[in-house]
Amino acid sequence: MTQRSMTTAIHTTCPYCGVGCGIVAAPDGKGGAVIAGDPGHPANKGRLCSKGSALGETLSLEDRLLHPEIDGKRVDWNAALDAVAAGFADTIARHGPESVAFYVSGQLLTEDYYAANKLIKGFLGTANIDTNSRLCMASSVAGHRRAFGSDTVPGLYEDFELADLVVLVGSNLAWCHPILFQRLVAARQARPGLRVVVIDPRRTETCEAADLHLPLKLGSDVALFNGLLADLDNRGLRDTRFVERHTQGLDDALRAARRVTPDFATTAAACGLTAADVEAFFDMVAAAPRMVTVYSQGVNQSSAGVDKVNAIVNTHLLTGRIGKPGTGPFSVTGQPNAMGGREVGALSNQLAAHMDFATSDIDRVGRFWNAAGVASKPGLKAIDLFEAVGSGKIKAIWIMATNPVVSLPDADRVRAALESCDLSVVSEAIRASDTVDACRIRLPALAWGEKDGTVTNSERRISRQRPFLAPPGEARQDWWILAEVARRMGFGAAFDWKGPADIFREHAALSGFENAGTRDFDIGAWAHATDAAYEDMRPFVWPAQAGKPAAEQRFFGNGKFFHSDGLARFVAVSPRDPVNDVDAEAPLRLNTGRVRDQWHTMTRSGKSPRLARHRPEPTLELHPDDAADLAIADDDIAEVRTRWGSALARASVTPATRRGDIFAPMHWTAQTASRGLVNAATNPAVDPISGQPELKHTPAAVQPWPVRWQGFLLSSRRLDLASCGYWVAIRGEGHWLHEIAGQDDPAAAWAAIGGALPDGPDIDRVEYVDETAGEFRGARFRDGRLDACVFVGAGRHLAARDWIATLFVPDAELPDSRAAILVGRPSAPRPDLGPLVCACFGVRRDTILDAIVAGDLASVDAVGVATSAGTNCGSCRPELAALLRHAIRKVAA
Ligand code: SF4
Repeated sequence: MTQRSMTTAIHTTCPYCGVGCGIVAAPDGKGGAVIAGDPGHPANKGRLCSKGSALGETLSLEDRLLHPEIDGKRVDWNAALDAVAAGFADTIARHGPESVAFYVSGQLLTEDYYAANKLIKGFLGTANIDTNSRLCMASSVAGHRRAFGSDTVPGLYEDFELADLVVLVGSNLAWCHPILFQRLVAARQARPGLRVVVIDPRRTETCEAADLHLPLKLGSDVALFNGLLADLDNRGLRDTRFVERHTQGLDDALRAARRVTPDFATTAAACGLTAADVEAFFDMVAAAPRMVTVYSQGVNQSSAGVDKVNAIVNTHLLTGRIGKPGTGPFSVTGQPNAMGGREVGALSNQLAAHMDFATSDIDRVGRFWNAAGVASKPGLKAIDLFEAVGSGKIKAIWIMATNPVVSLPDADRVRAALESCDLSVVSEAIRASDTVDACRIRLPALAWGEKDGTVTNSERRISRQRPFLAPPGEARQDWWILAEVARRMGFGAAFDWKGPADIFREHAALSGFENAGTRDFDIGAWAHATDAAYEDMRPFVWPAQAGKPAAEQRFFGNGKFFHSDGLARFVAVSPRDPVNDVDAEAPLRLNTGRVRDQWHTMTRSGKSPRLARHRPEPTLELHPDDAADLAIADDDIAEVRTRWGSALARASVTPATRRGDIFAPMHWTAQTASRGLVNAATNPAVDPISGQPELKHTPAAVQPWPVRWQGFLLSSRRLDLASCGYWVAIRGEGHWLHEIAGQDDPAAAWAAIGGALPDGPDIDRVEYVDETAGEFRGARFRDGRLDACVFVGAGRHLAARDWIATLFVPDAELPDSRAAILVGRPSAPRPDLGPLVCACFGVRRDTILDAIVAGDLASVDAVGVATSAGTNCGSCRPELAALLRHAIRKVAA
C-alpha cells in the first residue's frame, strides 16, 4: 500500500451508492476524519447526501474484524491463508473445480474484483463466482447485451440535465441516489420546461419532483412500455432512418406490443392505471425531443426484469433517442462499484473485460493470463450458487465483502447452507455480521478509508478510492489476501503484484488486448500508466483507448452497436405474470426496498446515531383500507408471513402504498432486530435470463402481532434482550436504544429484562413497579451517571425518549432526584417531536410542522430558513415538500 501522511486531506470516493460522489477526507490523526464533498468531482460537484455526510461517524473500530479466525479462534495470517489454500486445493482435487465458488460484492474495489475473478476463472478452472450485484442490476446487464450486443450504459449524468423529459421507472432516486435527484431538481428549477414522470407502485419521496406519477400495478412495466412503443409508432414518431440503418427486429417487437396493449385504455387496464394518466404520459413522451429513462431495482428485481429493460430500450431505439445529449435508457446501479464488477467479469456468466464464454474469448483471456485452464462455461448465478451450497454440490465457498445471509431472498436457507458447508470462508471488515457468524474461516479485510484502488460509477466514470486511515489490527486488502492464497496454490507468478497500480495496469491492458473497437470496455490507455499517474488519477469516463484521441463519451451516437452486424436489436416482449403470484393464503404483494439514511445491511451506516434516527425500526407500509381490514393501526407491530418465512415490523399505514401492496425495507438483520430480516420471507424466484431475484413481488399475508407489554430501554452499552419476542437495537449519542415488546406474561418479562440490566456492587438502582397498571420502570447508575433506563407498560409512550436520551450524553445534568427519571419526563414539559427528518441538523417532524403552521410557510426554502432543515445536504427536501403538502392540507381542512 502506498504510504501517506495520515493527516493530509485526501480525495477519494463515497462507498455507498452508484452515484459515486467524490469526497475530500481530512483525517484528524486519531482515527477519525472530517468528510466533505469534493467540488472537483464531476458526479457531485461538492454535494453529499445524508449518508455521505455522516461517513465520519462510521470510522470507529468498534465491531471490526481485526484478526484472522478459524472456528472462532484467533490464528495468524499464515495459518488462515494456508487453511484456505489447502481447503480449496483439496476440494478441487477430490471433487473437481465446480465444487468451489466465490461470492463477491459491489463493495470491492476493481483491483480486488479483478484478483478474485482471475483466480477462480483463470486458475481454479470454474466460473462459479457471482457478485451481489446479481441482486441489483443483472437484468440491466442482460437487457443491454440483448439490445446492444454489449453491457453498455450509453449516457452520462449530464443527460438528466439536458433532457426535456426524465422518466424514472422503479427508482426512488430521492432516497437511493440522492445527489442525482438533487441535480435533477436543480436542473428543473433552472429550466422549468424539463418535465419529470415517476413510474412506481408507491408514491415515494421522488414523486415530490414529478409532474406526473403513475402508480402502476406491481410488475406491469412491460405492458406500459409496450403500450408506449405502439403509441409512438401510431403517432408517426418512428425515426425511420435510424431504425432502418442501425436496428433490426422492430416488426416483431411492434407485433408483440400491439397484441396486448394497442391503445391507452388497454394499456391502462393492464397496468391498473387510469386511461387519462396513461394518455398524459404518452403525450409527454411524444412531445419531448430529448428523453432519458432512468431505471433501477423496481425494473431489475423481477422475474421479468430483462424483458422490462428491453421494453424500455425498445422505445428509445424506435425514436432514435439514444447516444445523443439528453437521451437514452439509463440504468443506475445500487452499489459503489457494481460497474467495476461488470468490467472485470465478476458475474458468473461473463468471463472478463466484457468478454463472455465464446471460444475466441476464452482463448484470448487464457493467452493474456498465461493460464491453460480458463473456465470454459458460465458458472452458477447467486441463487443457484447458494442452492448448490445447500445441496452439497459446492463444498467450499469464499464470500467477500457482502452479507448474503441478509440480502438474498429466502435468507434463512442461505444461513443453513453456509452452516452446512464443508469449507466456508469470509473476508470481511465487520465482525458483527450474520454472514460472518455463519462462516468458519474469517479473514479481516480493510474498510473504506483504508483501501486503495478504483471504482466505477453508474455513468462509467472511474475514480480513485484512496486510503486516509492506517490499516487497523491485522486487516489486509482483499487483493492481497487473494494473491497470497493464489501463491500458496502454486499460481504466484500470475499474482505477483506489488500494489493496486500493478493490477489496474493489467486490467487496463486486458481491456485493450486484441480489442480494436470490437468491445465497448476499453481503458487500454492506462495499461502503461506510471505509479504516479495512477496515484494522481482524476475521475474519467471510459472508453479510454490506447494511442487514440479521447473518444466520444456517449455510446451509440454513431449508430454502431456491438452485435456482430453492428445493429441494435429490438426485442419482442410480452407481459407475463410474476412467478409465485398472490392467492387466498397470501393475498398481498410484498415489495422491498431501502430507506433514505441506511445502506444495505447497516454494517456501516448503522454506526451513525443521526442516520439511525431517521427510521429507527423496521417498518411495514400498508394501505389504510388493508390496515382496516386487518385490524392493524399505525404503529402496531405487524407480522408478515409468506411461504418462505416471516418477519415483524412496525406498521406504517399510508395511502402512498397501493391497496393490496405492502412495502418493507431490507436493512434489518439478526444483529439489529429480533425478527426484522424481511428477506427471510422474500420470494426466491428469478428472472430466467438474468438470474436476478424477484425481490419486489412476494405473495404475503399480514396479521397483527398483539403485545401484552411494550416499551423501550436505553443503556450505555448494547444489551442482550433475546428474551423479548420483539426487540430492535439502534445507536444513539452515548447510548443504545432498544425498542422492546412481548406477548408473554408481563411480570416474567420484567424479571428477564431486569436481569439483563447492568448489576454489581458499583451499580445503584431505582425501580417502580405498578402491577395493577401493568408498568415497570427502572434505572441503573454507575459512578453517578445514568447507565441504563427502562420503561415498560401497556402503551409505547410511557416516557419521553428524546429527553431520556439526552441524559446519556457526556456531561449531561441528571435531575436532583434519581427517582425523578422514572417519571420519564423533564420537570418542564418537553414533548417528543416525532421522527427525525433532517439528519444534518437533527430537526424532527413536529418542529417542522409547527414552523409551517406558525409561519404560514409555503416552500421548502422557507422551511429551511425557519428551521435549518434541508439547508445542508438536501436529502430531506422531498420529505419537507411532503410535510408542506400535509400541513397545508391540514390547515385547509
Ligand atoms: Fe454517497 Fe450519497 Fe453520493 Fe450516493 S449520493 S455516492 S450515498 S454521497
